[in-house]
Amino acid sequence: MPPSHSDHPPEVAPCRVGVVVEAPQHSGLLGPLDYLSPQPLSAGTVVRVPLGRRVVTGVVWDTTDEQAEPLSEAQLKPVAEVLTGLPPLPAAWRQLIQFAASYYQRSLGEMTLMVLPPELRQLDDTQWGRRLKRLDKLIQQTPDAAQAPELPTLTEQQQQALEALAAATDKPFLLWGSTGSGKTEVYLRQAQRALDAGQQVLMMVPEINLTPQLEARVAERFAGRRIVSLHSGLTPAQRLRNWLLAHTGHADLILGTRLSVFTPMPRLGLIVVDEEHDPSYKQQDGARYSARDLAVYRARLERIPVILGSATPSLESWYNALPVSEGGAGRYVRLVMPARVGDGIMPTVRILDLTRIPKPLPGHSPPPLAAELLHAIEQRIERGEQSLVLLNRRGYAPVLHCSDCGWKSGCPHCSAWRVFHKADRTLRCHHCGFTERVPRACPDCGNQDIAPVGRGTERLEEQLAEILPQARVGRIDADVTKHKGALEEQLASVHAGEVDVLVGTQMVAKGHDFRRITLVAAVNPDAALFASDFRAAERQFALLMQAAGRAGRDAEVAGHSEMWIQTYHPTHPLYAALRRYDYADFAAQQLKEREMAGLPPYASLAMLRAEAKTQEAAQHFLKQAAELTQALADTQILVYPPVPTPIQRVANVERAQMMIESTHRVALLRFLQAAQPIWLDEAQKNRRSGLIRWAVDVDPLAI
Ligand code: ADP
Ligand code: ZN
Ligand code: ZN
Repeated sequence: MPPSHSDHPPEVAPCRVGVVVEAPQHSGLLGPLDYLSPQPLSAGTVVRVPLGRRVVTGVVWDTTDEQAEPLSEAQLKPVAEVLTGLPPLPAAWRQLIQFAASYYQRSLGEMTLMVLPPELRQLDDTQWGRRLKRLDKLIQQTPDAAQAPELPTLTEQQQQALEALAAATDKPFLLWGSTGSGKTEVYLRQAQRALDAGQQVLMMVPEINLTPQLEARVAERFAGRRIVSLHSGLTPAQRLRNWLLAHTGHADLILGTRLSVFTPMPRLGLIVVDEEHDPSYKQQDGARYSARDLAVYRARLERIPVILGSATPSLESWYNALPVSEGGAGRYVRLVMPARVGDGIMPTVRILDLTRIPKPLPGHSPPPLAAELLHAIEQRIERGEQSLVLLNRRGYAPVLHCSDCGWKSGCPHCSAWRVFHKADRTLRCHHCGFTERVPRACPDCGNQDIAPVGRGTERLEEQLAEILPQARVGRIDADVTKHKGALEEQLASVHAGEVDVLVGTQMVAKGHDFRRITLVAAVNPDAALFASDFRAAERQFALLMQAAGRAGRDAEVAGHSEMWIQTYHPTHPLYAALRRYDYADFAAQQLKEREMAGLPPYASLAMLRAEAKTQEAAQHFLKQAAELTQALADTQILVYPPVPTPIQRVANVERAQMMIESTHRVALLRFLQAAQPIWLDEAQKNRRSGLIRWAVDVDPLAI
């Protein structure tokens, strides 16, 4: 580590340094503040400075800021303290933060302090010193160098992909490969190259808790290397330690979720974004950044390769990777791996036409699974194979209903129903968390006969256990896995063959390497076909492809693997493409629609969101925001009228949004930048009339 700054003798003339401190967007403070330091401080140095009556953590950004107010040095306060022993944050890191702040319309201070480990701000001098000592000890112990693991012989596809990856290009790579085509093996080989060259590797996954398998695989492959993870499941101390190991160059490989894109790494040589289409890469509150997009930016900035991998890329990435001759942007290099490794083949898709099945008598609900599908599952049970039944709705039933007076279990605080959870006999709001015991009788009319309407995973599990008494039925969803370790336990019992039929939400569709599953069924996938969000179809297609990938992973059973779709719309083009596992065809359909509708990737969007005590107040602010910036919006900017959000009230707060669209990304950003101070000002004025919060969401994922 470099000598600490305080070792320097103080110099005669104090220098002026620009320090970025945490300041909420709404404070209007967008750049660094000026302080005095007795000695020069390198940019990137972490310091503590007085701010108002507090002392806060900040990062030295620059030493001369021409735009700063011309304060005389007598008016400037001195830096209170320099965090000793911490190397300055590198220039590329600061540039990344600067870009992220300006692109996602947040203050530099908020962005900077958000991505630093919280403990860096909280520890006092002695605690900090102790941490550094512990770190030093850790660094002394080199990880055990185990013998080199045996590597599989690469498939031809993998070889080709790796050859392309070795070629010099400054374009990002899109590795488009079916589930089980061996993408991870490609990441690992490319990572090996970087490690051999003395570089660090950043591997990103959407949800690290769901992928302990990847962690194990990486650890096994690179035994002898220091591998650290960075995600929200770590304790603050672990997070600081792993971050420091990365920042000081002592960690070779960082495995992390979206936040890890901001990890300072002095020797970074490769970034991998696995399942790049996954919405988890977009932060949904505060600074709403896309870690996938920032990874691409960072790779360009640091002149290193980035691999985006997926079986079903986001349409944005797909469009970027599509050659110009095929109507794409040709900005990425596309690597294709269509076949599964070995004899693994994708399951046969069976579209089960529900319109041909007689409707149940009035007052009766249809059986959860059509007879044909049930029969197919019974066959699996007899053969000792497993089935996965997908239903993307947790709880027992989405609503309780009184047939006498029409009462429904609404949430008093949200515009949503409360879900009936039978296990603990509660009515729970999935939006605000409001929970009550299930009433014995209708709260409005006293009728004792209130009934669940519809079906969630809990009910499906119960019903399947009833219809299939010979089967062991299990369930994995957010309710089951609330407790630490519960998910791992459930997965282990599936792997051990202790479950015949597994009911689950999308949680189980992702990444798991189930060996004995030969049937996957989506029992209610139609809702996404008609959702108001233009990305719903894209997400549904990805989910179904991913779910299908859970079946037939073992060559032994792959031959008779099936993916069942229960649908009232059997001829829908989405299912037609799914039947052939033809992502390219699906993407082409979607791109055509998007182009006609002027939606991403053919246009850039931003969403101005507002939350207020009343819907009128929320919309009033948005209307004002639009009017006041009308003059800034040239012909390239289209501002839509404000509307309530799909769930307009959550926890007694009304929400509205206003879409801003442009065919030119740069024009959109310029507009947002110019509008920001006006909106800030207007928001201040609207506080009294009930505005609570507002934010700009650039490249929003939820519409
Ligand atoms: P993906 O990431 O595309 O889903 P994986 O890399 O996880 O695919 O590969 C699927 C399975 O095939 C894994 O069990 C992996 O160990 C195995 N595998 C990958 N590449 C090879 C290869 N070249 N030869 C044999 N097995 C392989
Ligand atoms: Zn009633
Ligand atoms: Zn609620």
